[in-house]
Amino acid sequence: MNLILIGAQGSGKGTQASLLVEELGIVHLSSGDVFRNAVKLGTPVGLEAKEYMDRGAFVPDRITIRLILDMLAQPEYTPGVVLDGFPRTRDQARALDEALPELHRAIDRAIYLNVPRETLFERLSGRFVCRDHQHVFNVKTKPPLVPGLCDIDGSPLIQRSDDTPAVIEKRLHDFFEQTIPVVHYYRAQGKLLEIDGHQPIERVGALLIEGLGITIEESR
Ligand SMILES: [Zn+2]
Repeated sequence: MNLILIGAQGSGKGTQASLLVEELGIVHLSSGDVFRNAVKLGTPVGLEAKEYMDRGAFVPDRITIRLILDMLAQPEYTPGVVLDGFPRTRDQARALDEALPELHRAIDRAIYLNVPRETLFERLSGRFVCRDHQHVFNVKTKPPLVPGLCDIDGSPLIQRSDDTPAVIEKRLHDFFEQTIPVVHYYRAQGKLLEIDGHQPIERVGALLIEGLGITIEESR
């Protein structure tokens, strides 16, 4: 099964990706992994991507697609994949659809974890990490036992520079502007599974499994 997982930062995407990997035996492939792997392998197309990244520029879609296809061609991806962070735009979604037949593959379902923008903002702006080990806390959803201190190592909790309100606003703006068209793209293909992500993690996971029509065998 080849899936795409769409959700803004703070939507709980990482947790649900892990669940899909566990329940379906497929491989999680984030766009970050794709680039890191390409640089590590040092293939010509990987080096080309690295040039863009070193300049802090966006890697062009044709290169990104090539890198993803090269990874999906590896035997470990035979059982299927859950793509995370890609496609990020409608153009990328279209390019992916055009390229996948080369591997005799297609996207089966696209999952959208729908969380209201205000909720995402609240979740993200409440995030703090500890100074010593970057353990993550959230004043709204996962507060520390002692305010301002890490439960695990007692070091002070600080807010990262990319968790400031202005930076969060910008990230959410980009997501809703660029990535919601991807949701519409897969909806038009009849492949969209939209899950209300504004509820407890376990409930979201259960709806996801149910929505994909997966039967979980009871462990004996
Ligand atoms: Zn800590």
